[in-house]
Amino acid sequence: MKKILLIQTGGTIAMSAKGAGVELDPEAWASVLYKEIPELNEIAEISTLPLFFEDSSDLNASHWIELATCIEQNYTAYDGFVILHGTDTMAYSASALSFALKNLEKPVIFTGSQLPMSSIRSDARRNLVNAIEIATHPVHEVGICFNDALYRGNRSTKMSIGDFKAFGSPNFPSLAEFGIRINMKEQHHYGKGGFHNQAQFTNDVFVITAYPNLNPRFLDCLDLGMLRAVIIRAYGSGNFPIKGTFSLLPFLEKCQQAGVSVAIVSQAAFDSADLSQYPAGRAALEHGAISGGDMTLEAALTKMMFLLAHNESKSDIEELFQQSLAGELTG
Ligand code: ASP
Repeated sequence: MKKILLIQTGGTIAMSAKGAGVELDPEAWASVLYKEIPELNEIAEISTLPLFFEDSSDLNASHWIELATCIEQNYTAYDGFVILHGTDTMAYSASALSFALKNLEKPVIFTGSQLPMSSIRSDARRNLVNAIEIATHPVHEVGICFNDALYRGNRSTKMSIGDFKAFGSPNFPSLAEFGIRINMKEQHHYGKGGFHNQAQFTNDVFVITAYPNLNPRFLDCLDLGMLRAVIIRAYGSGNFPIKGTFSLLPFLEKCQQAGVSVAIVSQAAFDSADLSQYPAGRAALEHGAISGGDMTLEAALTKMMFLLAHNESKSDIEELFQQSLAGELTG
């Protein structure tokens, strides 16, 4: 029987009803887990590890490092890893780990739920059973298992607050689907050589959303001396205002002079930014900006944080950012 390590980090799956809402409940989840789903032990030999207990909106890079270190320390002892995690930032954590865990040969599967485990209509049971089951299969990457599908972690994004189908993977097909049988899709391996943990991230990157009437003077308040990269969530193929007082080009010019990388991703979930398409994108290219292609914001941000931590040279960072490191980008 396969050995699976179930790592608890919090989220709704670990919460209980409290008044009109829900609250983290460290006692409840462990007892519910074994009382309500004893069949879990028929799928795998499961050990549990409560790593931290947070609403995922309170997580940051230090938690990603803790998670990656936990997997590294337990890597040889287990066949697969399931991480219980809040849905709000699950796609960020899964993306971050996909860059940190090099040459992964074992499944690292994130899951959670939209309703607490103890709620009668909860999706927790199904998600957890699916996640544990898929963690016994030969998946060699970080995935998000939710609502009868397994998605590549760094292609996933939270799409719904109220639907049980909380996640989508707009630019990459699911890795597996759960029906009467598990339908496994093509399997991927990233990297060559032995597994190692490279979890290191820096936060000298800032994300800007383009929107009508964004006052560029607000951007003048940014201390570019503290930044090494900016990610712009542009419209469509990579567009943003380039005319009159709302033009963002002077800001791009300042970034270029300050040696700050500018990467552009799209606010549109589907398809890829293409900076050669429209005048704004072409002007961005002339100002040294680079394209995030079809990366999710979650992948682009965590990748930039990872690359900044591992590289000094701006040109190396920009080159690597535009390459697929863990299947996050269609090349
Ligand atoms: N706020 C919760 C969290 O991300 C939401 C969830 O788990 O669904 O921790």
